[in-house]
Amino acid sequence: MRILITNDDGIHAPGLDACKEIARALGAEVWVVAPETDQSGVSHSLSLNDPLRLREVEERTYAVKGTPTDCVIMAARHIMPNKPDLVLSGVNRGRNAGEDVTYSGTVAGAMEGTVLGIPSFALSQGYSFATKGNPPWATAIQHAPDIIRRVLKEGMPRDVLVNVNFPDCPPDQVAGIAVATQGKRDQELLRIEARHDGRGNPYYWIAFARAMVEAAPGTDLHALAQNRISVTPLRLDMTDEPFMTQLAQMFD
Ligand code: MN
Repeated sequence: MRILITNDDGIHAPGLDACKEIARALGAEVWVVAPETDQSGVSHSLSLNDPLRLREVEERTYAVKGTPTDCVIMAARHIMPNKPDLVLSGVNRGRNAGEDVTYSGTVAGAMEGTVLGIPSFALSQGYSFATKGNPPWATAIQHAPDIIRRVLKEGMPRDVLVNVNFPDCPPDQVAGIAVATQGKRDQELLRIEARHDGRGNPYYWIAFARAMVEAAPGTDLHALAQNRISVTPLRLDMTDEPFMTQLAQMFD
């Protein structure tokens, strides 16, 4: 099996090494094409106004000055002599559950693989305030290969990717696998933090104040709160069928 690895945390991220271990457990030929710098939060963006700079780091390992989406296209259409059989995006430092999915460059890397018709997984490792400095990568490393193998054996529909989140606990404390829906955080407080530069001019950071919320059962957030691995199939087609029917009746 020929595996392409990308991520959004960048070519030097520890999670990329975790992903290499997962890929090696799955197959022989592993290629890495990852962003030169941290691209967390870039979602499914394409670089259209800047050139893509390509740097060969070592054999079958490349850094691209671009987004995860750029990386997957560069890999599949330029770098790799043959199309990959599998795309693994991650392992992200931090979970991609609930509405994180819509911001995530990690999920987008898998999304682009799916667009190109390649079975694709997004892998993310949860951490907490306590494990911030050292997320439990061993949890993803130990549990991901079996999950991926089983899903591939079952076969994946076209235009669907699989988003996998690993809970913030050691591998032996994982309480199982939950096939879950994309959850919703009701009280996520995104705010703008103003600071001042050396000349007194204001500049701003987007800051997060995450309140503890009871996640709805059946969701990825709920699974992770129970130390379970969440497995969520995501569709490229984001159409909401029930409201579409309602709108169709309205405009008819
Ligand atoms: Mn990231």
